[in-house]
Amino acid sequence: MARRARNYFLEQQQGSSELKQWQFGIVQGATFADLRRESAHQLLEINFSGYAVGGLAVGEPHEVTCEMTAEVTALLPQDRLRYLMGVGKPEQIAEYVSLGVDMMDCVLPTRAARHACLYTSEGRVLIKNARYAEDQNPIDPHCKCSVCRRYTRAYLRHLFAVGEFTAAILATHHNVHFYLDIMRQIREAIGFGNLAKFSSEMRAKYAAGPA
Ligand SMILES: [Zn+2]
Repeated sequence: MARRARNYFLEQQQGSSELKQWQFGIVQGATFADLRRESAHQLLEINFSGYAVGGLAVGEPHEVTCEMTAEVTALLPQDRLRYLMGVGKPEQIAEYVSLGVDMMDCVLPTRAARHACLYTSEGRVLIKNARYAEDQNPIDPHCKCSVCRRYTRAYLRHLFAVGEFTAAILATHHNVHFYLDIMRQIREAIGFGNLAKFSSEMRAKYAAGPA
C-alpha cells in the first residue's frame, strides 16, 4: 500500500516544476520492536522524502513511546525528516527531540486552551481558579505573545467565567505561541549543547501541579 501511494504520488509530480509537497512513509508496528524495525526497513526501500512514526502515544506508558521511537529513529537516515505523530506534552517535546525527532503534531495546546489550561514557563496555569480573580499579571511574564503583552490573568479568567468565546481564542493563541517557543528554545539548547539540561528543567516544572 505504501509503495502504491508512493508511485501514485511520483506520477502526479512528474512534469510539474512546482514540487510543493513531501510525502512521508509512516512506520507502524505498535509496541513490537521487531515489527517496527521491519516496517522501517520496508519503507526505507521505497525511498520517501521523510519518515513518520505512527501509532504511538495512544495510551501506552510514556517509557514505551520513547523506547519504540528510539528503535525507529536509529534506523532512519539522518538526512530525512523524522516526524513523531500525535505528541506531546510540553515537558516531553525536548525528550522526543533528543531521540532524533524533528517534527511533531498535537491537539494538546489548542484543546487545553479551550479548557482554560494555559502553559507557562513555570508550569500549568488553570486560569478558572479563584486565585487569579484579581491577578493583574500576564499569563506568563516571560512570554512575548500578543495576549501576554495586552491582557491580565484576571481578564482572561473573567472571559472564561462568563463563557465569552474570545477566552478560547486568546488562550489558544498563547498556548500555540508557547509551543513554538519551546521549539525555539530547543534549537538554541542544541546549539549550546544544553538539550539534556533543558529537557530535565521542563520535566521538573511540569512534574508538579495540575495535569
Ligand atoms: Zn503568551
